[in-house]
Amino acid sequence: MAEILIQNITKTYAGGKQPAVNDVNLTIRDGEFMVLLGPSGCGKTTLLRMIAGLEYTDAGQISIGGRDVTDLPPRKRQIAMVFQSYAVFPHQTVFENIAFGLRMRKERDADVKRKVERSAALLQLEPYVERYPAQLSGGQRQRVAVARAIVMEPKVLLMDEPLSNLDALLRLHFRADLKKLVQDLKATTIYVTHDQVEALSLGDRIAVMRQGEVIQCSSPMAVYDRPATEFVGSFIGNPPMNFLRGRVERTNGHVHVTLHEHVLTAPPELAQHAGRDVLIGIRAENIEAEARETPDNLPARTEVVEPLGSHLLVTAAIGDQRLKLLTRTDFPAQPDGPLWLRPEPDKLRWFEVDTGREIGPTPQQRTEA
Ligand code: ATP
Repeated sequence: MAEILIQNITKTYAGGKQPAVNDVNLTIRDGEFMVLLGPSGCGKTTLLRMIAGLEYTDAGQISIGGRDVTDLPPRKRQIAMVFQSYAVFPHQTVFENIAFGLRMRKERDADVKRKVERSAALLQLEPYVERYPAQLSGGQRQRVAVARAIVMEPKVLLMDEPLSNLDALLRLHFRADLKKLVQDLKATTIYVTHDQVEALSLGDRIAVMRQGEVIQCSSPMAVYDRPATEFVGSFIGNPPMNFLRGRVERTNGHVHVTLHEHVLTAPPELAQHAGRDVLIGIRAENIEAEARETPDNLPARTEVVEPLGSHLLVTAAIGDQRLKLLTRTDFPAQPDGPLWLRPEPDKLRWFEVDTGREIGPTPQQRTEA
């Protein structure tokens, strides 16, 4: 079992004004693929390095498989790590690069050979084992770095942006390979990235970080569909979630939100916000568009039409507020022409204007989502 338990972990670098990691609590289940996602500087790498033992913690506790490792050096934590920079040894062959950790462990030559060959095969590196890193492409070098980690049969695999040096197409291929590999390996994995597509595609769960804190930790679909804050909704998804300002009103005991004189049905949780503005969150694919006037729909104006091959990405304006929606490619959208919108009612999300927090389900309902 290699469950990782992170309790109240905090770290401020010397000279840093704010903590790089601030009171983070996280449980990564045995065999789980956890992604740490967030913008540059939010503390992902610092948190990963503390789990690896490469960085001291100021406070808190880290345990792996039920053992407190907070003060243990990296080599005693039974982890393997893959970095963004491939960190392969240039003067050693691919074979020796992969074999490095096994040799350090003083494993028998026959075992080294068997294990290296198996890892090389898993990463499709067999034709290259006698080459030197300089004779490999970037993608192949990154495979060597991954092979070198998995050859150790680690219970815990830590990866810091391992795909970020690859071009877009290679990333796409390697991402699927990596997912398959990690599924087979059954190691508990923590994967750092600032790429939300990578996070959605790879993670069993995603911990979204901002300014040293974990804002939300849920399954990819839950993070996408039920962002806990405006920040999460804007960070995840391409295009990001739309946020429109509306006013909560209560008439005859019914709560609704008005958006440019248009009335949207709102859940009862919004009652306590009556008389105040809220942010209405809706994803581009959850808005239906009509080119003809439809009485119950929101009147809007098309501003920009971008063909994306499978869809049109339409930027529309409702009064002075802008939003993006996806339509079929045969939708007759004309720049500056009118259109009528219908956001799917059960896809509407509501957020506080000041804090950006979601108004609605309790944290427990959200976890179950
Ligand atoms: P990126 O995606 O850019 O790698 P990150 O989310 O991994 O960012 P960290 O590298 O963990 O973020 O950095 C978190 C904060 O700590 C940043 O404000 C950064 O400037 C600061 N920081 C990181 N390493 C050090 C260091 N060795 N000394 C001082 N400050 C540091």
